[in-house]
Amino acid sequence: MEVKTFGVIGAGQMGNGIAQVAATAGLDVIMLDINTDVVEKGLANITKLLARQVEKGKLAAEEKEAILSRITITTALAEMAAVDFVVEAATENEALKFQLYKDLDEICPPHAILATNTSSIPIGRIAAQTGRPDKVVGMHFMNPVPVMKLVEVIRGLATSDDTFQLTWDLCLRFGKIPAEANDFPGFIANRILMPMINEAVFTLYHGVGTPEAIDTVMKLGMNHPMGPLALADLIGLDTCLAIMETLHDGFKDSKYRPCPLLRKYVEAGWLGRKSGRGFYDYG
Ligand code: NAD
Repeated sequence: MEVKTFGVIGAGQMGNGIAQVAATAGLDVIMLDINTDVVEKGLANITKLLARQVEKGKLAAEEKEAILSRITITTALAEMAAVDFVVEAATENEALKFQLYKDLDEICPPHAILATNTSSIPIGRIAAQTGRPDKVVGMHFMNPVPVMKLVEVIRGLATSDDTFQLTWDLCLRFGKIPAEANDFPGFIANRILMPMINEAVFTLYHGVGTPEAIDTVMKLGMNHPMGPLALADLIGLDTCLAIMETLHDGFKDSKYRPCPLLRKYVEAGWLGRKSGRGFYDYG
């Protein structure tokens, strides 16, 4: 199957990045969010990033226009009737994603692949909401999508070899490097990353160090490009909490319990960069 029309559900920080790389690779993209403001903001972000590339001489101005002309924005899920491949990048909430997959299964053509950018929810659970579990696959991009090379490609129990291969090939077409993961909560990336971030939050909670000290130790001591608390702010604290909940529920192991301070921040609406405040203040 040749993928020509590519759907993106959710135009948040991941969704608009995915739409940008797909349109840059020459696909016609339909990007959807729940309201016009959000989806317009997503498109404005893509426009800004492409304009920056033009300024740096990395992209021709005509190419920027061509990429943008391939992106359509919408709030109507019915428009996904035109897609060959859809990536869902909506909020990390199982009930919300389950409903979306039920709807997408009804709306998308029978040949369409339904991929999810979930950070942690097992693919098999999502696939079970549809009548096409063989066409459901994990396609886990990293943040920021246009910059980060890795995509974890996750095989659910029922994912067919054709679906897996097509998704893998699409990653290569996007200029990404795919890595295969099997279907466990958090897959590979967040099974390892998120407990480290959660431990950094416990380190702050117990008063072992300030956010600056914790991040400095991990940056200079472990050679990480970003400290774990700054990274949590970039990912979104709501997403971090949701991933820890999925690990905790999935493995029933207390080592994955989310730090109470992480929950407290999320309950206060301190979600990191996207809300202007997290472990750091973004003004
Ligand atoms: P975000 O909060 O920036 O964006 C989520 C978007 O989904 C919002 O714009 C919201 O309006 C939209 N949305 C909610 N319900 C919807 C619905 N029913 N239909 C359409 N859109 C809907 O979150 P994000 O960081 O972009 O994360 C999106 C997904 O990507 C999550 O599953 C997350 O776990 C995953 N992910 C996030 C990161 C990261 O670093 N933030 C990295 C990899 C994967």
